[in-house]
Amino acid sequence: MRHVIALDVGGTGMKAALAGADGVLLHQARRATGRERGPDAVVTSVLDFAAELRAYGERRFGEPAAAAGVAVPGIVDAERGTAVYAANLGWRDVPLRALLAERLGGIPVALGHDVRTGGLAEGRIGAGKGADRFLFVPLGTGIAGAIGIGGSVEAGAHGFAGEIGHIVVRPGGAACPCGQRGCLERYASAAAVGEAWAAASDNPKADAADCARAVEFGDPRAVRVWQDAVDALADGLVTALTLLDPRVLIIGGGLAEAGETLFTPLRAAVERRITFQTLPSVVPAALGDTAGCLGAGLMAWDLLTTTPTTSEVTT
Ligand SMILES: [Zn+2]
Repeated sequence: MRHVIALDVGGTGMKAALAGADGVLLHQARRATGRERGPDAVVTSVLDFAAELRAYGERRFGEPAAAAGVAVPGIVDAERGTAVYAANLGWRDVPLRALLAERLGGIPVALGHDVRTGGLAEGRIGAGKGADRFLFVPLGTGIAGAIGIGGSVEAGAHGFAGEIGHIVVRPGGAACPCGQRGCLERYASAAAVGEAWAAASDNPKADAADCARAVEFGDPRAVRVWQDAVDALADGLVTALTLLDPRVLIIGGGLAEAGETLFTPLRAAVERRITFQTLPSVVPAALGDTAGCLGAGLMAWDLLTTTPTTSEVTT
C-alpha cells in the first residue's frame, strides 16, 4: 500500500507516523530527540527514526514510503530544505531535507516549520476544514501563527510570516526574548497567564489552567488576570484580521483548553474592537498534538501530487 513518512520534531520529543493517501495515520511512534547529547546527535536521531519507519513500512505494507514530510521548530527555509535555526535543538543551517532524502533512498522530502505544518492540518482536515482563508494561533509557551491561503500556508519571504506573538500590543511594556517590548506573547500565552496568576494568587506553582478554574469559580483576581490576557489577545488578533481578513480563526495550544472560558470573552472582545472588518468564526483547534504529524503527512502527499519526478525536489 502506498504511504508516506510523517515526522514532527519537537524540542524534547519526536512524533512520527506512516500516513495513507486519505491522510489517515496507519502507524504511530514516539521517541526522544536526545538533545542532551548535542545538535548532531539530534540529526542522527531524526535520520535513524526515519530509516526505521521506512523499513517498518516496507515490511508491513509491501513497499517503502513514497515520500516524507518533516516539521521542525525554529526558523525554516522550506525552499532550500534547511533548518536555519532552532534554539531548543542547537541547530544552525542543518540541510535536513537533503540528509533525509539521502537516507531514505532518494524519495522526495518536504521540510516545514512546526506551527505552519500544524496549521496546514488544522486548515485542511481539522477545525478549518474547507476554509480557503484561515489563521491558526496556538497559545502555548509562546504564541505563533499560521496564515492559510488557498490550501497552503504562507511562509513569507524570510520564513517569519504569521509571527503574531511578536505584534506589539502594549508599547513600552514587558521585555520579550525577541528584543522588543510589549509583545502579545508576553500577555496572552499560556506561560504569561500562568506567571500573572502565580503572582496574583501568591502561589508560585499556579499555571494558566489553575487560573481558568479560578475564573470558573468566580474568583475576582483570576477574572482580572484572565480579562487582561483576553484583551491583549483581542488587540493582537484584530491587527491580524485587519491585515488578513480570514474566514476562520483557529485558536489552539494550552490556553485554548479552557474552552468557552476563553472563547466566549474572546469573541466578545474581538467583536467590540472591530468596525468595518468582518468577524471571522473563532473556533478551537481540533487536532491537538497530532496536528504536526498530520500536516507533515499532507506535505509529503502534496509532493507526490505536484511533482512528476523525485530528483529535483531532493537536491
Ligand atoms: Zn517578542
